[in-house]
Amino acid sequence: MSYSYEAPVSQALFDRASVVTPGGVNSPVRAFRAVGGTPRFMVSGDGPYLTDADGREYVDLVCSWGPMILGHSRPEVIEAVQAAVARGTSFGTPGEGEVALAEEIVGRVAPVEQVRLVSSGTEATMSAIRLARGFTGRAKIVKFAGCYHGHVDALLAAAGSGVATFGLPDTPGVTGAQAGDTVVLPYNDLQAVRDAFAAHPGEIACVITEASPGNMGVVPPREGFNAGLKELCAANGALYISDEVMTGFRTSKAGWYGIDGVAPDLMTFGKVMGGGFPAAAFGGRADVMAHLAPAGPVYQAGTLSGNPVATAAGLAQLRLLDDAAYAKVDAVSAEIRGLVGDALGKEGVAHRVQTAGNMFSVFFTSDEVRDYEDVKRQEAFRFTAFFHSMLADGVYLPPSAFESWFVSTAHDDRAIERVAAALPAAARAAAEATGEGVRA
Ligand code: PLP
Repeated sequence: MSYSYEAPVSQALFDRASVVTPGGVNSPVRAFRAVGGTPRFMVSGDGPYLTDADGREYVDLVCSWGPMILGHSRPEVIEAVQAAVARGTSFGTPGEGEVALAEEIVGRVAPVEQVRLVSSGTEATMSAIRLARGFTGRAKIVKFAGCYHGHVDALLAAAGSGVATFGLPDTPGVTGAQAGDTVVLPYNDLQAVRDAFAAHPGEIACVITEASPGNMGVVPPREGFNAGLKELCAANGALYISDEVMTGFRTSKAGWYGIDGVAPDLMTFGKVMGGGFPAAAFGGRADVMAHLAPAGPVYQAGTLSGNPVATAAGLAQLRLLDDAAYAKVDAVSAEIRGLVGDALGKEGVAHRVQTAGNMFSVFFTSDEVRDYEDVKRQEAFRFTAFFHSMLADGVYLPPSAFESWFVSTAHDDRAIERVAAALPAAARAAAEATGEGVRA
């Protein structure tokens, strides 16, 4: 596939980066491998816009993969960060900001009675699983194919497994021992979960699921799925862990819990709660959290956990996220979804726009997408053509057909008009795509 525009400064930076950093990036999907072309090196963000090193401006529909729900450089958040930085950047002691952020989380999400702050979503899920194993005294965990919970060894056993099979390591470096206690099941399939509990009585510590998956594209839980997980866990002495790193404080004030009301035993958070800084958390039932060091025997720690700058940013962002802010993000999301659907419909491109609150993604198939196998059946090559046309016209989409799109309160009429203006050509490109010469 050829690209009708160039990004020479980004290309030069990517060349430099590729010498000193594997693949030229610090997180794989940023490298554009799935869509080809030059990854854009961004130099600044303002409201709904990003500007790259070549001086081109884009409407940002990635929002740093979720965190920037107020848009970029929101003045109140920047001011809170500047004030915190001026007081010092890390003390290695407790501080009031951590208490305030924990109180904000506990105040918003009823099932969270206590919370521990960490620095990434990966750390949050890793710690939650250790705690579940320590609390129950059991080894096995259940996860769902297509759900991503960070690069925790035990959770990288993921893709394509059949019902109730043991996960094999999906990546070199994860040993059979690390992944061997992970049972990988198809998403949205309660019978598979029932069968797994029957096959491993008294052995399963927890079921971990994305509250509403966004990491295989947006594939929401079927009616009753999360409630069924909770019931099955309770009946079998296992903990139900809802990973809200992506949905938390994004899909509502109380995240996905605020939408489906199913109370997990443990929850994990990240992204929005850090205001663009490395802050994440896990929390839940006080009797379970009491097993965590120093209150209990399950060890967990972090030099920069509860960092004063990160907590100031997160707190400032959460305090701005009131009902009006969520109504605005929901409205922006609905408008853009409608525009995308109309444009693809006009060109006769088979597609589905799937939604979970204000998260959404576009699948190039006309069939309902309920699990990872469905996701993989879409015509992803059409996304590649669509993506590059949008990028050329100044709209930055996730560089993969298997990711959620994210919007913010800062996406105003002007930004939405720019998306609308870019869509007809992108829809045409998707219609005309043949998949030839495109990387899988
Ligand atoms: N859990 C979910 C649902 C995620 O979406 C992610 C990241 O995208 C993670 C965990 C891992 O978070 P982090 O990238 O901060 O380690």
